[in-house]
Amino acid sequence: MNRISGQEARKIGDLLDEVRSGHRLTEEEVVTLMDVRGRLVWEVAAAADEVREAKVGDAVTFVRNQNINVTNLCINRCGFCGYSRKAGDPDAFSFGKTEVQAKAKLAETRKVTEICTVSGLHPDFDADSYIDIVTWIHEAAPSVHIHASNPMEVAYGARKSGITTEDLLACMKEAGLGSMCGTAAEILVDDVRAEICPGKIRTAEWIQIVKEAHSLGIPTTATIMYGHCEKIRDRARHLAILREIQDETGGFTEFVPLSFVHMTTPLWRQGKARAGATGREDLLMIAVSRLFLDNIPHIQVSWVKMGLKLAGLALIAGGDDIGGTMFEESISKGAGARDTDYLDPAEMKRVAEDLGRTLRQRTTLYEFV
Ligand code: SF4
Repeated sequence: MNRISGQEARKIGDLLDEVRSGHRLTEEEVVTLMDVRGRLVWEVAAAADEVREAKVGDAVTFVRNQNINVTNLCINRCGFCGYSRKAGDPDAFSFGKTEVQAKAKLAETRKVTEICTVSGLHPDFDADSYIDIVTWIHEAAPSVHIHASNPMEVAYGARKSGITTEDLLACMKEAGLGSMCGTAAEILVDDVRAEICPGKIRTAEWIQIVKEAHSLGIPTTATIMYGHCEKIRDRARHLAILREIQDETGGFTEFVPLSFVHMTTPLWRQGKARAGATGREDLLMIAVSRLFLDNIPHIQVSWVKMGLKLAGLALIAGGDDIGGTMFEESISKGAGARDTDYLDPAEMKRVAEDLGRTLRQRTTLYEFV
């Protein structure tokens, strides 16, 4: 192993001191910080933890949420997806109003404050399908915040019905949509998208739909999926795009790095992707995101993607939110993730208190419950 030179350590230390003093990191500096090795990882993590503490305090937050994946039928075959199915596959499913409303009612009895619904791109879906899903959930569980769809679903539904994405978003809001998922972002670099999800919308369209949502008063999350075949500079570009959007709209509630779960995905089986990010990369993704995204208050650590033990460490590397209870998660499970079923808040509390922090329940929009 190459030893860390004094010069390298000084360079990283100086850069971290500048960030502590308010310096706005550049994309190049993101590449530098995401590439550190050895004990310098802890230095980057410690700086991010200090910034987290100053910005949002010591609470570790979580949301009581439930997923409703309406269908796994999908016209696409993204290389990183182990979830989608074609018609005729033995485990393909598609729920209608009755099943969706039963799940929504069950969510309410579980004292869930958020229902999250994203699905496959069903061949028969159009704009009305997405409006219907929101309407059904809102009817069945009117007190629950609906966190639904993503720019890909909105683009798909609008295209199928010949309306604009802005019009579809407005109709979904009218039907009860509270916020939109910032998924389908993957890596916002078209060369990488062409490799991992050629059937998905391109970067420019993702940005456009997110900005439309924000302008309509629909907040969104922001995500990245990393650890497959992207380079560090692609991650830096992605973060820069998110920071630019946030400077303009202020509509992102949180940033959720999603570590690539590779096991059952075509991308990995065909040798086109690595077997996911390492623990070092996971911690640095959280830490550098905290340091770079100075305008997004909350950085979520995904226990579903990282596993609970690493997620705990990520909470002292810049993360402040541990995500949701996730009743009925099936997308990561489809790709081979192990820790995907319901996580009891008692277990979250144990992790938070072990770090000397306090667990607090929040709403989707980060109000304390
Ligand atoms: S990631 Fe989404 S759009 Fe892509 S294949 Fe899977 S379900 Fe379909």
